[in-house]
Amino acid sequence: MAYARARLGALPGTRLVAASRVEETAPLGPVAQPPYLNQMVLLETTLAPAALLAHCRRIETERGRERRERWGPRTLDLDIVRYGDKTVREPDLTIPHPELPNRDFWQREIAELEGEHV
Ligand code: ADP
Ligand code: MG
Repeated sequence: MAYARARLGALPGTRLVAASRVEETAPLGPVAQPPYLNQMVLLETTLAPAALLAHCRRIETERGRERRERWGPRTLDLDIVRYGDKTVREPDLTIPHPELPNRDFWQREIAELEGEHV
């Protein structure tokens, strides 16, 4: 997480404005695996959503992520939950993230970041 925060904050045209607390949550989906640590960061960026996603994939790969099975254990997962008020519907990118309504921890993290910065 520290690695991801540092990399995200150093992306071109990007500033890390705030980070939520870290929360441990049960794994999602059908594959048996240990719990996860979740954290949300608030970025200010001039990167377009697709460019930001490409950087996220690269950072995941740098931490040794391999994509084997859907929902499977992963070393690092960087999702774009929201991008301002923007809506994106591309084959490989949906914003707001379609799982947002189903993930209480994301909603808690958004509230935490908004409480401090909006
Ligand atoms: P998970 O759904 O568990 O996050 P992955 O991290 O493997 O699974 O993501 C699979 C693909 O989901 C990504 O390669 C990306 O193209 C796509 N995707 C669609 N919308 C988003 C989003 N808002 N944030 C991140 N990835 C997204
Ligand atoms: Mg992901």
